Amino acid sequence: MNESDGKRRLPRYDEAALAYEHPLYKTLLAAPGLSVSVAPLDLLLSWGTMNSLWVFPMATSCCGIELMSAAASRVDLDRMGTIVRATPRQADVMVVAGTITVKMAPRVKLLWDQMPEPKWCIAMGSCAISGDFYRELYSVVPGIDTFLPVDVYIPGCPPNPEALMHGLLRLQEKVKLARAGQLVAKEYPPNRLDITKPSIARLSDPARDPALSAAQEKSAGEATATDESDERGGGNASAVEPFAAETTSTDVEALLRELGVTEFPKDGAPIVPVEQHVTLARRLRAMNYRIFVHVVATHFPEKTGAKAAPERFEVAYALRSVGSGSKIASWRLSLATGQAAPTLVGVFAGADWQEREQFDLVGVRFDGHPDLRRIMMPGNWEGHPLRKDYPADKACTPWR
Ligand code: SF4
Repeated sequence: MNESDGKRRLPRYDEAALAYEHPLYKTLLAAPGLSVSVAPLDLLLSWGTMNSLWVFPMATSCCGIELMSAAASRVDLDRMGTIVRATPRQADVMVVAGTITVKMAPRVKLLWDQMPEPKWCIAMGSCAISGDFYRELYSVVPGIDTFLPVDVYIPGCPPNPEALMHGLLRLQEKVKLARAGQLVAKEYPPNRLDITKPSIARLSDPARDPALSAAQEKSAGEATATDESDERGGGNASAVEPFAAETTSTDVEALLRELGVTEFPKDGAPIVPVEQHVTLARRLRAMNYRIFVHVVATHFPEKTGAKAAPERFEVAYALRSVGSGSKIASWRLSLATGQAAPTLVGVFAGADWQEREQFDLVGVRFDGHPDLRRIMMPGNWEGHPLRKDYPADKACTPWR
């Protein structure tokens, strides 16, 4: 950081600090009469740098496919010495190809920091350049130049592999200018520079709480432990009924009626009383519905006027049976404001992360969940972005 004028900013590009200390270079400088070689040697080094731009691929979505295609025979990036290396430590150019989210941005910055100098950055596609369609979305960074020093912008949605080649050629020109000391450094908004701090202190950070490391270690051990009971999270193995080989939708309907469901709407799954929810899941599992497909929560805000209705949440579940003739069983819970759904983690291990996702995005709580915390948004995020009343332009990130 340059703080001489009181402002924080990324370091300027310093040609003198490049220090190409190759032994051959030193030998030539030391040898009498060979100083005349320095100018051609400089050209040689420029040529070498320009034609060995190794790419670190930061490919997150559709633009990444075009980046991959550029390495294939039609464009063949190799012919200009550009090869892709999946490690930041040997790469010269980070190509960001795709949408970057606010949770991802600090990780991208960390990878950028691990690349050795001199290094370059290409923003490939309108998502990387500006956020594109997702610019106003709560979770998307409106352009990677809010936290990375971008050298070349390649417009398009997506730009094709030829456009990437064109961008690399423009970058070669920029490398040449930098070697000649003619590159003008860019200024970056200082308020953007604080956003890269990880929300959880890293292992090497002295500020990291040792209890956090211990808890993570314990959790990792538990996650990989053999589960003899075929259940998780305090589930009662003796309550699981033996598996039946086959079942039919009539069986499921009979079960639902037995559990007090009387309405079977044609346009949606039946609504099950909350107190029968876990029993239903256990019984279905015993009927060979062993795959937990999804849990999806929807927020219905309060309605006024002729169709007045209080705020509520619907949580939809789906299970799939295994074996030939596989079928889906689905049901919904209807929850009032503040009402929690009983967790299914004790019945299906797969419910764990999915329930966390619904908690994170919609704010539905799952009673008895062993680790109910955010999973997609940063830990310090305010509110639940998939609720209908969530203001999408809320000032809860450094970008807005
Ligand atoms: S710019 Fe278009 S093609 Fe590229 S990641 Fe965004 S949406 Fe996908």
